[in-house]
Amino acid sequence: MLISSRRSKRRGLKAFPRSACSLIPVFLRVFWNCKPMSEEPKLSKVELLKESSHQLLGTLAEEIRNDKPEFTDDAATLLKHHGSYLQDDRDARKAKDADGKKLGKQYSCMVRTRIPGGRVTAAQFLAELDLCDKLANGTLRITSRQGFQLHGVLKGDLREAIRAINDTLLTTLAACGDVNRNVMACPAPFKTKVYEQMQALSQELAEHFKPRTRAYYELWLKDEHGEEVDTSEFKPVEEPIYGARYLPRKFKMGIALPEDNCVDLYTQDLGLMAIVENGSIVGYNVLAGGGMGRTPSAEKTFPALAHRIAYVTADQVVAVSEAVVKVQRDFGNREDRKVARLKYLIADWGVPKFKAMVEQYYGKGLPDPHPADVTGVEDHIGWYEQGDGKLFLGINIENGRIKDEGSLRIKTGLRVLLQRFGMNTRLTPLQSIILCDIEPKDKAEINRIMAEHGMKGADELSLIRRYSIACPAFPTCGLSITESERALPGIIDELDVAVARLGMQSDKIAVHMTGCPNGCARPYTPDIGLVGKAVGKYTMFLGGNPEGTRLGFIYKDMVPAEDIVPTLIPLLTAYKADRKGTESFGDFCARKGQGALEAYAA
Ligand code: SF4
Repeated sequence: MLISSRRSKRRGLKAFPRSACSLIPVFLRVFWNCKPMSEEPKLSKVELLKESSHQLLGTLAEEIRNDKPEFTDDAATLLKHHGSYLQDDRDARKAKDADGKKLGKQYSCMVRTRIPGGRVTAAQFLAELDLCDKLANGTLRITSRQGFQLHGVLKGDLREAIRAINDTLLTTLAACGDVNRNVMACPAPFKTKVYEQMQALSQELAEHFKPRTRAYYELWLKDEHGEEVDTSEFKPVEEPIYGARYLPRKFKMGIALPEDNCVDLYTQDLGLMAIVENGSIVGYNVLAGGGMGRTPSAEKTFPALAHRIAYVTADQVVAVSEAVVKVQRDFGNREDRKVARLKYLIADWGVPKFKAMVEQYYGKGLPDPHPADVTGVEDHIGWYEQGDGKLFLGINIENGRIKDEGSLRIKTGLRVLLQRFGMNTRLTPLQSIILCDIEPKDKAEINRIMAEHGMKGADELSLIRRYSIACPAFPTCGLSITESERALPGIIDELDVAVARLGMQSDKIAVHMTGCPNGCARPYTPDIGLVGKAVGKYTMFLGGNPEGTRLGFIYKDMVPAEDIVPTLIPLLTAYKADRKGTESFGDFCARKGQGALEAYAA
C-alpha cells in the first residue's frame, strides 16, 4: 500500500522519488493515528512562500539589484536560507540627523558561514577577518554552533561578502533557514581515528543534507566579476531530501563522545553520540528532538532535551539521519511555526511512535540505544599534545567576539599568529578557537604574542569564564528583548570576584545567557541560565549542568541585571558548604530544589 500522490504533493514530495515514503504502510498511519488523509493542513505563510519561491529564489534577484537598504519581508525570509539575516541596529535607530530627527531603522545584514565541525584554515580565517574590516562592523563573531558571523554588512555589499566567503571554499548556504544547519562536531584535533571519524562524519552529513537548489549559485556566485545578478538560466533541480517546501523549521545536528559532550548533544534535533570500541567508532546513539527555543507568549512552546531513540552502526548513521529528517519533513507542523521543530512532533507522538516511523523510513528496525551516556564536557582551552608530535592550543574568546578593544587586541593577535604560523584552526561550541598543528618549538613565541596582545591563557581564566557563553542580542538581533553579549562580561567579572572569594576558581560552572527565550546560546541546560525577559531583566534558570544532560528550572523571574550576582552568591556559598562529593553547582541546585535554595537565599 502506497502513500497517495495527492498527499505527497501536499507535503512537497513531488520533486523527488517517493521510494522512502512509499514504504510506509497505511496501517501504520492509521494505527499510530498519523494525520488522516482528509485533514488538509492549513499551511503557514512561510510554507506557501517557500513552495512558490522557485527553490529559494523568490524576488531576491530583483531586490539585490535595487537601491533600497532593506529587503521585503518575503525576500528576507528566503534570504535566511542563503545564510543571511536582515537586521537593523537598534543603537543606530536612536541616532539623529542634523535637524534632530531620529534616523529610524538602519538596516544591515548578518552573514553566517556554515563550517561543519568548525574546521577553518588559516587562509579562510584571515579572509573572514579581512571581510569584517572591509564590509562589516570591524568584528568577527564565532557562533555557538562553530560558525562565523559578520555583522553590519550593508545590503549593497552582501554579494561581495558572500562571494568572498565562497572564494575561500566556505559557504553561507544553509547556515540559517528551514534546512539542516551547520553540523557540529567535537573540534578537538587529536590525531586519533575516533576524533577524525567524528570530523569526517560532520563533513559527510553537511554535504548529504546540503540543499541542491541552484538559486544560491545564480544569485551570489555566477558572475565572476560580481556586478550582475543574472538568474535567467535558473532551472529547478531535484531536492531529494527537502522537497519543494524544505523543512518545517530549522534542524540542528551534532556529534560528540559520551565523555566530552562539548556540542551539547541533548539540545540538538539530532544528536549522534559516538560509541567507541578498540579505538574506533563502531556506532552512534541517536538522540532526537532536542531544542532550546520557546516563545514567551505561547504556553505550548518549551525547551526540550533530546530523547534516546536507537543505536545505529557507523555505516547506518547517514541513512538513519536521513530517515529522521524525512519524518520531520513529512510530519512536522507546517501550520504553526511556533511548534514546528522536531521536539513538538515527538512530544505529540511519543518516542515509540516516532521511532517506528523512523524505522519505516529507514526500512528496518533499529535496536535500543547503547547504555553509554554523557559523562563529561571539555572546553578544549589550553595547550595539549595532538598525538602526532605537535601541539594544539585552545584560546578562550569571550562570547566569541573577535575584536580589538583597549589592551585586549584579539583580532590583531590572531592575525599575527595566523600569518606567522599558518596553522589550521577549529571553532568550538563555546565560541572559542583552537590553533592546531603547532610545532613544540613555537610554543614560547605563541605565548609571547598572546601576552603582547592581552590574550589570556587557560590558567589565567576562571572556569566560570571559560564555560560562559552569550548570544549577540542587542543591538542587531531582531528578536532580542534585552542585552546579552554586552551584559555577560560584567556579570562574569562580578562572579569571578565572588568565586575567588569562595576559592572556587577551578569549579566548572557553566553560565549561558540569551537576550530572549529563543535560546541561541543554549541557556536551559547549563548550571546557570539567564534568559532575557524584559529590558534589563532576566529569568534565572538553575539546576542544569555543564554536561548538558538536564534542563534547569526557573529559580527566579524578572531578575534585574544588577541583582544577578547578589542572587547567586548565597547559593554558591551554600554549594561550597553543602555539596556532596564532586557534584556540580547545577547538580547541587537540582538536588536541593527551589524551596531549599530559597531558604539559603533568605
Ligand atoms: Fe537573538 Fe534571542 Fe537568539 Fe539571542 S537568543 S541571538 S536575542 S534570537
